[in-house]
Amino acid sequence: MIEVDGSRGEGGGQIVRTSIALAALTGKEVKLSNIRENRPTQGLSRQHCTAIQAVAAMNDSWVDGNVPGSRELVFRPGFAGEGDVSLDVGSAGSISLVLQAMLLCAQSHDSKVTMHIRGGTNVKWAPPIDFYPQVLFPLLSKMGIEAEMDILSRGFYPQGQGHVRVTIEPAKTIKPLRIDELEEMVEVNAVSYCQNLPPRIVDEMAWSCQEMLSDIAVLNVERDIRQGGSTGAGISLVAVHRNGMVGASALGSRGNPARLVGEEAAKDLIVELDGGGTLDVHAADQLVPYMALADGGSVFRVWRISKHLLSQMDLLETFLDVKFHISRLTKGYRIEVEPGGNE
Ligand code: ATP
Repeated sequence: MIEVDGSRGEGGGQIVRTSIALAALTGKEVKLSNIRENRPTQGLSRQHCTAIQAVAAMNDSWVDGNVPGSRELVFRPGFAGEGDVSLDVGSAGSISLVLQAMLLCAQSHDSKVTMHIRGGTNVKWAPPIDFYPQVLFPLLSKMGIEAEMDILSRGFYPQGQGHVRVTIEPAKTIKPLRIDELEEMVEVNAVSYCQNLPPRIVDEMAWSCQEMLSDIAVLNVERDIRQGGSTGAGISLVAVHRNGMVGASALGSRGNPARLVGEEAAKDLIVELDGGGTLDVHAADQLVPYMALADGGSVFRVWRISKHLLSQMDLLETFLDVKFHISRLTKGYRIEVEPGGNE
């Protein structure tokens, strides 16, 4: 049995999600202790419990300790089961975070998996749902994993009520991702969205964002204006290069003018593009598990190494035969992922 100290490194929910997904993929039983010990609300939250429940259902697994507040969990994986999964994260619990575990776990399946997930689509401290179709799915496609998403309704804090449908076609063999240099930028795409708010908000976010990025590109803006069970707004960007994607985003909040939200997303993109990374900081921690499972060495650069990325690498070395080599560059860091590096 693999034992994971949940307070190690980043010490948050990601350690839990990645551990159980890797347990399902490798067939190794895992025991997690001190879960989210350094967080103000210790133990599992509802979002984490939903992710665990989803992975357990997908792989017919046995779980002990999967209740909100629990600081210990034992996960004994079974075999790939149900191809279709429906679940509700509850109120505005992040759909994106639950998906992180489910998509990774889906690699243990032989055929297409369809997921219907309800909850929050655009909430703080989590990937905006748009990050999947804009950034992660195109990069996963380069690795041989095909996924699609329909955002059927958006869910914002506190009511949530978002709904997405995701299909994923697991790869028989995952191809390495090698992006050592970003080639020419082709376009910058934006999804400017609002729900139950005046449509001028999507234009104000897009205009201010465009103004700040005027030296970089003319934005292709998709205006996404909806009515739904919760209220909110935001903008998600992707700078599409010939050989990669760099994402950035900002989420609106009450009292924060739309103009500032657009500027925040633009600044986020400028930092990523100027920093010398070939993946944005968030894509890096989310894609590194797939690189560790690939049938060859991957390489990428990031402008900074996040705690999430460090924790992911640490955890992946615990479960898999993989080595990471980090070198510091004048601008940013270069990371090589070497599956089978211990042989
Ligand atoms: P905890 O509550 O314990 O902090 P959590 O389950 O809410 O944990 P984290 O463990 O902090 O979540 O993981 C957050 C994940 O969301 C990371 O993979 C991070 O890269 C990703 N993420 C956060 N913000 C963004 C963003 N703006 N764009 C894309 N991804 C993001």
